[in-house]
Amino acid sequence: MNQIFRSVLLAGAAALLANFAQAAAPTKPADVVKQKAQIDAGLDKAWPHLEALYKDIHQHPELAFQETATAAKLAKEMRDLGFEVTEHVGKTGIVAIYKNGPGPTVMVRTELDALPMEEKTGLPYASHATQMWEGKPTPVDHSCGHDIHMTAWLGAAQQLVALKSQWHGTLMFIGQPAEEAIGGAKAMIADGLFTRWPKPDVGFAQHVGNGPVGGVSYKPGVFNSAADSFEIAFAGRGAHGSRPQQSIDPVLEAARFVVDVQSVVSREKEPALFGVITVGAIQAGSAGNIIPDGALVRGTIRSYEPEVRVKLKEGLVRTAQATAMMSGAPAPKVTFGEAAAAVINDDGVTARTAPVFKAAFGDHAVPATSPGSASEDYSEYIIAGVPSLYWGLGGYDPKVIADYKARGEVLPGNHTPQFAPAPEPSIRTGVEAMTLAVLNVLRP
Ligand SMILES: [Zn+2]
Ligand SMILES: [Zn+2]
Repeated sequence: MNQIFRSVLLAGAAALLANFAQAAAPTKPADVVKQKAQIDAGLDKAWPHLEALYKDIHQHPELAFQETATAAKLAKEMRDLGFEVTEHVGKTGIVAIYKNGPGPTVMVRTELDALPMEEKTGLPYASHATQMWEGKPTPVDHSCGHDIHMTAWLGAAQQLVALKSQWHGTLMFIGQPAEEAIGGAKAMIADGLFTRWPKPDVGFAQHVGNGPVGGVSYKPGVFNSAADSFEIAFAGRGAHGSRPQQSIDPVLEAARFVVDVQSVVSREKEPALFGVITVGAIQAGSAGNIIPDGALVRGTIRSYEPEVRVKLKEGLVRTAQATAMMSGAPAPKVTFGEAAAAVINDDGVTARTAPVFKAAFGDHAVPATSPGSASEDYSEYIIAGVPSLYWGLGGYDPKVIADYKARGEVLPGNHTPQFAPAPEPSIRTGVEAMTLAVLNVLRP
């Protein structure tokens, strides 16, 4: 963490602690246990409805900025609960407000979007949906678990409304489009998220992963990496596959680049600092006997430190240019797309929430020792000045985890076609954690 980050963090924490100093004391551990029992009783009743909604959303996933049916479903649910709902914020986002007397405003965010990939879980409620993606029909899958987040988001809203005699303040529940494409948070902010509505005093979000269900992990400071997407268009000269001497082979350029760019990570970056360059897509050619005239390479860069981020981006551009030069090809076109800064949890909000998680979940509340390598545009809300806590939720039955381990197989993680978090326990923990965290900052 550099000095600027550190001082911004400390200033944020000090301001928030000042707010909290004027606010009510944190929830006592014994009261957390009582509230959790109330939430569980409420959830038992709400579960059939939540499960049906989860399966519906899972079977009808929608891609970034196309989440119209998903947003409409959530908007209706929130209106039924008594929230004042505005749709089409930042294109397909929703903002749901519930006022319950004077007090702070708390933002709770879920993502709405799914991924352009085919589900291969074999579940009875697996998705067979397709949507247009880059001009062609493409399978769509909630393989990042945003369907879990949406259901837990609604579940927390239900429980907070049911427990409204126990808190005062304003709930600002937002459904954000296009987290996967990175751009939804910016779009909502640009559409007046913090000017048309009050700027929240605190924000919360959670993400399911492949840890054991019931687990909640959190840490102050950097929680998620910075992400930069890139696209490189290598130019070449097309020719018959039998006459390579007449070509400038862009497939060879792309192949060399994919291998060589990893030396930026292994040789140029300080080894102890986190940094990843992944090429996730290569597109070139149409037949085995034609050398095409171009190749497209797309990928993502992940980092925590701003200086590593710059180093990896510069190294990637240099490698692309050198690769083209080796082939005598024209300079490649390197484009960096939507970027997300690292998610940095607020020290004050983390310190306030951690004891509540400990009281509720005991040994299953686990302070994370290091940040994750995934990225999030939740960072946009933090940069806009909403001190926040973003935590991780376990998604897999420990028995399933043990079985995979015994077979020597890798447990399917987010963004894999087999990713299949167990809905009931994941959503239950998500509702408990979110409801308790909100109650803890909105005490009477
Ligand atoms: Zn994702
Ligand atoms: Zn995600």
